Amino acid sequence: MTAATNLGFPRMGGQRELKKALERFWSNRSDAGDLEVVARQLRADHWKLQQVAGIAHVPSNDFSLYDQVLDTAVMAGIFPERFTHLPAGFERYFAMARGVAHEGERTGAPALEMTKWFDTNYHYLVPEIGSGQEFTLGSTKPVDEFVEAKGLGIITRPVLIGPVSLLLLAKAKGENFDPIDLWPRLLPVYEEILRRLAAAGAAWVQIDEPCLVTDVAERALLALGPIFERLAGAAGSMDILLATYFGGLAKTLPAVLRLPVKAVHLDLVRSPDSLQEALALVRPDQMLSLGLVDGRNIWKGDLTHALSLAEAAAERLGADRLMIAPSCSLLHVPFDLEGETGLDPELRNWLAFARQKLDEVTLIAQGVASGRTAIAAALAENEAALRSRRDSPRTRSLEVRRRLAAVTPEELARAHPYPVRKAAQRESTPLPILPTTTIGSFPQTDEVRKARALFRSGKLRADEYDAFLKARVVEAIRWQEEVGLDVLVHGEFERNDMVEYFGENLEGFAFTANGWVQSYGSRCVKPPIIFGDVTRRGPMTVDWARFAQALTLRPVKGMLTGPVTILQWSFVRDDQPRRETCRQIALAIRDEVVDLEQAGIRVIQIDEPALREGLPLRRADWAEYLRWAVDAFRLASAGVRDETQIHTHMCYCEFNDIIDSIAALDADVISIETSRSQMELLGAFADFRYPNEVGPGVYDIHSPRVPSPQQIERLLDGALAVLSPEQLWVNPDCGLKTRRWEEVKPALVALVAAAQAVRQRL
Ligand code: GLN
Ligand code: ZN
Repeated sequence: MTAATNLGFPRMGGQRELKKALERFWSNRSDAGDLEVVARQLRADHWKLQQVAGIAHVPSNDFSLYDQVLDTAVMAGIFPERFTHLPAGFERYFAMARGVAHEGERTGAPALEMTKWFDTNYHYLVPEIGSGQEFTLGSTKPVDEFVEAKGLGIITRPVLIGPVSLLLLAKAKGENFDPIDLWPRLLPVYEEILRRLAAAGAAWVQIDEPCLVTDVAERALLALGPIFERLAGAAGSMDILLATYFGGLAKTLPAVLRLPVKAVHLDLVRSPDSLQEALALVRPDQMLSLGLVDGRNIWKGDLTHALSLAEAAAERLGADRLMIAPSCSLLHVPFDLEGETGLDPELRNWLAFARQKLDEVTLIAQGVASGRTAIAAALAENEAALRSRRDSPRTRSLEVRRRLAAVTPEELARAHPYPVRKAAQRESTPLPILPTTTIGSFPQTDEVRKARALFRSGKLRADEYDAFLKARVVEAIRWQEEVGLDVLVHGEFERNDMVEYFGENLEGFAFTANGWVQSYGSRCVKPPIIFGDVTRRGPMTVDWARFAQALTLRPVKGMLTGPVTILQWSFVRDDQPRRETCRQIALAIRDEVVDLEQAGIRVIQIDEPALREGLPLRRADWAEYLRWAVDAFRLASAGVRDETQIHTHMCYCEFNDIIDSIAALDADVISIETSRSQMELLGAFADFRYPNEVGPGVYDIHSPRVPSPQQIERLLDGALAVLSPEQLWVNPDCGLKTRRWEEVKPALVALVAAAQAVRQRL
């Protein structure tokens, strides 16, 4: 029999029960016992619904109260010094996840760093490992949850993040060493857990090594053999499934298939070609887990095609040496399509969320086991849905396609090179040296959120809401003038989210009611779905920009989200290359940019905070991505006259490896995050002799701390050590929407004072 299996399930619950329980607990409205009850119930519900769906290998230990990498660090006793005095259990766990504030007697401790989980929008906590790190069994969570499920009559397949990935994802603290070299010290913890799982009755364990689909250092690959030798020894009669996902194994496939593991999982959605090679190399005693259902997107899969691959594999290996699975954990898709009654039925019929994907997995497994005729009706239904999507006129706009086909290289470039534009901009919009500005948003206060909620629920009329927002813009403009900022913003009060706002104003986007995906901890996002060709219904931001500009003589910056970021933070159609979808968005943004210019807006910012995170997992694929990403930005921005100043903004500062692409964007001004790195990271710009203007953030908006003018001056001096005064802008690190006015006001007053002080000295 071919087993239907799963690699991981969303944790939050259909109504985000976990989020709510966590937030109640953190704000002391409930205790640890209450949180445990909710967590236990969610685990039980999710195990049961997978079992009912026909999943033979139901994962456990995929659940987490915050993050699975943090859980694994805790399991291995990896506690940074600053947390060791805290009691084990929830207190230390959440302290590592969220940090501890300094308060009276209590010393503060910053949380572990957070970073993106491969190329997903999930963020994990980065374990910190010192060269002298001791590893001890810090928790038995994988065993506890296995036993918990067993108590419910379900023999699960516990999931562990493997030792190689754990060490590769960790950050080396201090001296020059590579955490991967510590594997011999780490392994006893894994061996102990495996022995305990086997003793508790586990038949399978899933060891995730997603790092294997990235460019892994040679020494890590060399360690694989000895590591898995020892893991297999400890597992005894329990079988190991080594799971790889988010890409193909490429050159390491043969080495991985030589490891002493019973089964290997391959992501055949991202790497369909690896199947043939795997079939040729798999050992007679081994099984393959075929990741055939896309765990990263929300479309119904092509089940007939998936079944063909599975059948071909079954012919070579025999059906009982196969498992069918999603390509990766289902953590990255929303829970259930069932409740999405607001989506129109045609579009809804094209989609599959986590629960629906379980059914797809089961169906493919059933097809292999019992033949196509046994599932003919379901296959026909699937084919009809795919056909409806393929043939739908809603996914195609001839006009956009015609326009994109006609785009010329000239349209990807500004009329003149930067020095010419700079002169024109100086002339038409004179600014002082070291001009001051902000990144766009001002505080989204309770008042603003409440008004939006009332408007959305129909309790506030459109004209009332509009008047409310306009009053906020007037206040913001007046206040910026008073403080003496040079380039003003309207404040983005009308936007709840920088992607959703544009998606709602573009054709080709759809929105779910409950399509939440975990971003980190209790935080979830609801990405829009791009289902069709993207076109602009009409101007999206022009009225706001014009309204704000009419209030002041100073330039007001038009504020747009860039094509790469809109793409990156959405579920993207899979029936054409991502770069095509990106180009369509770029064209829509281009129209908006030109309209803003026509409306008299002289400075236009196109935010691309997600440009870097779109980088493919393997270096070899970077150049191609960067080429189309840069082109998309240029298409979006190059439609304006020399006099119009194009800004971009990015929320990070590591530019060393992509600085040539950043320069190729040819934005007149780029604002970046740097305040926390004390300007060191500006080095990339200096070394490259970056020619255009740069606004390195001088106010860390992630912290409630208000900087003093002296602190900001010091940062500006640091920047002036590597940039010329003609290049330098003065601005915060990012938008101010998460801050309070009480913090923002004094901080921006200090920022302007610092800029003035430095100007005097120049
Ligand atoms: N303009 C946006 C803001 O100020 C930029 C946010 C971002 O880059 N994440 O909020
Ligand atoms: Zn930002």
